[in-house]
Formats: sequence, C-alpha cells, structure tokens
Amino acid sequence: MKQRLAILGSTGSIGTSTLDVVARHPERFEVFALTAASRVDELLQQCLRFAPRFAVMVDAARAADLAQRLSSHGSATRVLSTPSDLEWVAAHEDVDAVMAAIVGAAGLAPCIAAARAGKRLLLANKEALVVGGEMFMTAVREGGARLLPIDSEHSAVFQSLPDDPATWAQRIDRIILTASGGPFRTRDPATLHSVTPEEAVAHPNWVMGRKISVDSATMMNKALEVIEARYLFNVAPEQIEVVIHPQSVVHSMVQYRDASVVAQLGTPDMRVPIAYGLSWPERMESGAERLDFRRLAAMTFETPDARRFPGLALAWDSLRAAPGTTAVLNAANEVAVAAFLDRRLRFDQIHVVNLETLCALSFSEPHSLADLLALDSQARTAAERAVTRLLA
Ligand code: NAD
Ligand code: MG
Repeated sequence: MKQRLAILGSTGSIGTSTLDVVARHPERFEVFALTAASRVDELLQQCLRFAPRFAVMVDAARAADLAQRLSSHGSATRVLSTPSDLEWVAAHEDVDAVMAAIVGAAGLAPCIAAARAGKRLLLANKEALVVGGEMFMTAVREGGARLLPIDSEHSAVFQSLPDDPATWAQRIDRIILTASGGPFRTRDPATLHSVTPEEAVAHPNWVMGRKISVDSATMMNKALEVIEARYLFNVAPEQIEVVIHPQSVVHSMVQYRDASVVAQLGTPDMRVPIAYGLSWPERMESGAERLDFRRLAAMTFETPDARRFPGLALAWDSLRAAPGTTAVLNAANEVAVAAFLDRRLRFDQIHVVNLETLCALSFSEPHSLADLLALDSQARTAAERAVTRLLA
C-alpha cells in the first residue's frame, strides 16, 4: 500500500525538498493534499505534477485564482482556503503521514489535529512544538501518533538513539546539538547593528526559508531547537548542550552514560532527514550527495560566543520559567524577525524585543490549544509594542 501524504507548506524550502524525495519513489507515496499561503504559480505546478485530491491555499483571492487555473488545465484537484481546512486535511482518514512544514506558530493547530488523529507526523515546523510543548506531546501520545523529527539535528539525535524510547531516559547523559554558527560566526559583535536582511539570510551551508535563515544568524534557531529537543526526547534542559561546528557535517550527537558518543554525519542536505522520516524504520534513496571523507579537510568545534549570540541562553531560561514561556519567546521572535525583514528593526534589536516581551508579559498557565493561541496573540501584541517603542 502506498503511503498517502499531506504536505503542509509544500511551496516552502522543506515542502519542495519533500516533493523532490517523493518524486523519486512513486511506488511508495501518493500525495493526498498540498498546502500553501502564497506562491500560486508554484502550488499550481505542484498540483499538476502530483495530482493531489486537495490543495489548500490559505488566502481567498489566491485560492480562487488557483481553482480557476487548475480547472482550465482539467485538473481534478479541489481547492480549499481556510486555516481550518489545514486541520481537516491533516486529520483526514485517507491520510497516513503529514509533513508539517509550515513556518511559525501558524502550523500548531494542524500539527495538533494530525497528532490527535494518530498520523505519522513528520515535524519540520519546530515553532509548533516550541509553542505547544507538553500539550503537543500529550496530543501525540493520546492520539497514538508517531512523531518523526525532520529538523536535521533532531533527526541526527533520533538516528543515534536506540529504537525503543522507553530505554532513552536511563541511557542518555547529554544531547549535543551542533550549530553552524551562521553567517556571523566570526563577525565583530560591535558591528551587528548594521546587518541587512540580505546579509542575514545568506547562510553559508544551507538554503532555507527567510525566517529560519534569520534565526540561524541570531542563533535563535538553535534556541528553538534546544526547546524542541527537550520535548522530543524528554530530557532536562541541563542535559542539552550546543556546540558550533562550522562545516555542518556532524548533524548532532548523543552522549551516553558510559561517556560514549554516537553521532550522525552527512552532507548538509535536508533531503536526508526528510527521506529518513518518510521511510522510517527503513532507508531509501534521498538524492543527496555522499560525504567524501578524503575531501573533508577538517571538522572543528567551538563554544558559542554569548556576546554575539545573546538569544541562545533564552532557551534554557524559558524552559525553566512558567509553562507557556517558550510560546511567548517564539511569538516575540516571529514578530521581531518579521520586523527586521521589513527593515523596521535592527538585527541586534531582535534580541531586545525577545527579552522585553519575556519580561513584560504576565499570563496565566495555558491548559488548552485555545489558551496557547490566545497567549501567542497576546505575546505578539506585546512584541509589536516593543518594536514600536524601539522605532521611536
Ligand atoms: P519557507 O518559508 O520556505 O516555507 C514555509 C511554507 O509555509 C510555505 O509553503 C508557505 O506558503 C507556508 N506558510 C507560511 N505561512 C503560513 C500560514 N500562516 N499558514 C499556512 N501556511 C503558511 O520555510 P522553510 O524553510 O521550508 O521552513 C518550514 C519549517 O521547517 C520552519 O518551521 C523551519 O524552522 C523548519 N525547518 C526548515 C529547514 C530548512 O532547511 N528550510 C530545516 C529545519 C527546519
Ligand atoms: Mg535544524
């Protein structure tokens, strides 16, 4: 039987890499739904090529445009257009696996829907887990879903762990996440105020969406990944360590109780963790180039500089604070990054907005998805206020 896929965020960097892998294995996969928020041309081409039953374009005017163009091509794909349609396709009974590749907290509700419906959930959308936290993991457990990490670091950790999660707690000493250090690893911290969006999104090793590229430059991406690792692998924040590894060959490591370290290596190509998530527990061709150890000049490791990357420590701080704090941090960061990309905020002020929002907001503990979404929107308002104040 073919695996029937819903690919949320199919026009993005992860979405297109997923379709690249899927296209290599037509005998294994069938595309049930594709979704996007913009880029009608790309979604149209994907629909014509993969013939999904549904396409969700979460924008009424763009959805109408897409539907009209699909019908003029004689396509049978049905177009839907609301955020709740994302949840509906993610939980549809004819779907086996959901690739969660929407960027930001906008992906939380469809992730929870897929988790509650017991799907195989391929998680690239780290913000959803950072916002959802324990509640996300409870939905996975109670829905009988299978959560497979797609973030390269977490895929590496997952590949370095034994199959049975029940054995993890007694074996893991530390989880060591590697970070490339992004484009400003060696830049003088005193000059970070003048960084432009173009400089910030030019990542040395990976080609990614704009938001995660800025997060890599501030290392907020790694902060989000520390939070992600805490929930995925159920370890204490103190058990997670970050090391800079500029070559991005070692994708992350597990240090065991006996001091043995197991790592996963490969060329930096997201098709590897995507193919692993799609084929797990098997392996299949990803299309990625092989590592050539004879050409690998060196692998180096260094400690992240707290002056250059002040946001990194917020991961441990927010994990130790009241439940919901990681959702506040994520919302603030989404607002700050958007403002930076809009040239309304300086690069070094992203951290100021995050810190101010964390300090300013008082909130009650979220107990439901609705509470979390309300907290997310409350934090966005506070972060917008911080941006406006900094503009003045
Ligand atoms: P991207 O910006 O390239 O793509 C985002 C996708 O989500 C697009 O299809 C877009 O249309 C859709 N989308 C955006 N806002 C939406 C909304 N409000 N509602 C519905 N759909 C929306 O991003 P990306 O780089 O592919 O990253 C996707 C996710 O995967 C992020 O959470 C990112 O952190 C994570 N991730 C990406 C990479 C990478 O290499 N790109 C690696 C690891 C993890
Ligand atoms: Mg990553």
